[in-house]
Amino acid sequence: MTDTSATHDVVIIGAGPAGLSAGIYCGRANLATCVIDRMGPGGQVATTDWVENYPGFPEGISGLDLSAKMEEQARRFGAEITLAEIENLKEQGGLYTLCCTEGDLRAPAVIIASGTRPRELGVPGESRFRGSGVSHCATCDGALYRDKVVVVVGGGDSAIGEATFLTRFARKVYVVHRRDALRATKVLQERAFKNPKLEFVWSYVVTSINGGEKVESVTVRNVRDDGTHTIETDGVFLYVGLLPNTEFVRGFVDLDEWGYVLTDDSMRASRLGIYAAGDVRHKDLRQVVTATADGAMAAVSVEHYLSETGKAG
Ligand code: NAP
Repeated sequence: MTDTSATHDVVIIGAGPAGLSAGIYCGRANLATCVIDRMGPGGQVATTDWVENYPGFPEGISGLDLSAKMEEQARRFGAEITLAEIENLKEQGGLYTLCCTEGDLRAPAVIIASGTRPRELGVPGESRFRGSGVSHCATCDGALYRDKVVVVVGGGDSAIGEATFLTRFARKVYVVHRRDALRATKVLQERAFKNPKLEFVWSYVVTSINGGEKVESVTVRNVRDDGTHTIETDGVFLYVGLLPNTEFVRGFVDLDEWGYVLTDDSMRASRLGIYAAGDVRHKDLRQVVTATADGAMAAVSVEHYLSETGKAG
């Protein structure tokens, strides 16, 4: 017989800043709250070296420490935080069943805070050398490149922030960017331009990552004259944007053309009882501070929904 009773009042998918903030607010509202994450708490911010634009930390704070503090705070208010990966989401009579690798969870309200993942470049060598010279995480792998040469691809906040971080270890960091101007925040740009270990390779795209046992070089092509060059390197860090983790809700709630969840200002998705918060949501600014604000708003909306419908356990 199918079990139709709720296991929780709300299940939050994703334990990054949005999910953990929602966990803090739901916990403080005395809702039986479960936060699931396939990788453990933290999300993208846990792979960020230093966060210096989150209010309350004037000197900045490491991404790992910030997420650990958020996790501690969510647990303190009673949120369960569980390692599990969602495989699909079903609804019956206003109760959502989340089929997870670790078993089913059922709740009348769900907050999607599953964040984003790094976009791939799609060039030869990228898959072959992933984990042996190709990385998306300078915080995790940077120390492997002490006194070596690395290439960073991209011109956004992630590329420029992490390229600067990599200069602590590497003797030389090339930043290959497809245009002649950066997208990154001005303060990050200014710091990078002053760093003698950073060299910008403007208006080039990487066309292949080459090597034998490990990465030895990248081939780059000039976008204006198609001229190609080889840059010898020991590692390649890719920061060419993000993709939303929404495959499990495709067709279940409305998404925008890039796959981000569409919500209203109260974080309500297109289906009653489903909310979205953080980077996974269609929005203009993806930052830790906007993710935490979304998480709080989504939690308050859930609280109102459950009390108006009498669905809280
Ligand atoms: P992003 O802002 O989307 O930047 C991606 C970069 O990759 C852009 O410079 C883009 O070039 C380039 N790019 C995209 N596709 C490419 C391709 N196929 N080949 C070569 N280059 C390509 O991504 P992000 O830097 O990961 O940042 C994502 C979000 O997180 C942003 O909202 C950002 O502000 C935020 N973030 C904030 C912080 C912080 O506040 N400290 C830190 C990290 C990230 P174009 O510029 O030509 O488009």
